[in-house]
Amino acid sequence: MIFDTHIHLNDEKIYEKLDFYLTEAEEVGVKSFLCVGYDLESSIKAIEIANKYNNVYAAIGFIPTEWKKWTPNSILYLEELIKKSSKIVAIGEIGLDYYWEKEENIIQIQKEMFISQINLANKYDLPISIHSRDSIQDTFNILKNNPCNNRGIMHCYSGSLEMSKEFTKLGYKIAFGGVLTFKNTIEIKRVLKHIDLKDVVLETDAPYLSPVPHRGKMNEPKFIVDTAKFAANLLEMNLDDFEKITYQNSLDILKLNKHEN
Ligand SMILES: [Zn+2]
Repeated sequence: MIFDTHIHLNDEKIYEKLDFYLTEAEEVGVKSFLCVGYDLESSIKAIEIANKYNNVYAAIGFIPTEWKKWTPNSILYLEELIKKSSKIVAIGEIGLDYYWEKEENIIQIQKEMFISQINLANKYDLPISIHSRDSIQDTFNILKNNPCNNRGIMHCYSGSLEMSKEFTKLGYKIAFGGVLTFKNTIEIKRVLKHIDLKDVVLETDAPYLSPVPHRGKMNEPKFIVDTAKFAANLLEMNLDDFEKITYQNSLDILKLNKHEN
């Protein structure tokens, strides 16, 4: 049993064959999905999908790279969505991205977006899904100074082992996806080996970041199995045990224990 804690079923590439992809993933043991929004439109679509499928949950929010779409009304729109759907279990993906944006005034906008969406999560008692690219120290500082009461998941974590321990100390889970399986990624493998297993969750980020041996192709929801096998192997663990533990970790951080039992 696997929980995909970060997937874009709302992306056109998957959405156009949604039934097919979900069925294929379920056949290899994927039991639950967190469909993540990145702007208003994709958030609305995430909710629509979550309302249709029992085992799909939604996260809504504005990714930092969509700062151009952010307006003074964005929080109000998100709030209206939260009030209408019981399937929204997180705010995300939110955070900082200095890979695509390096200008100081844009970074400032990203920080404001991040903080106001953390406040929104706190207002509605939700955890967050975090996107952080080339911005790990600032991401940490914001989470430290503007805590999210329910913590959340470090999506596609790409920082150092030392920093990962700082995030887990704050109560955040670290999500491992296709990047873990890439030949040239060393630090993320160290992170998986050295953090507590209770802090580990799985994700695809599909349709992006296909794991080995599917690199160069669109990432399909069922490919999460390749990441799970790779991770269990790295930890010299039985695959079933690894899946069970990371599944429970996902339920814990998303506060879904009562939903699933
Ligand atoms: Zn994503």
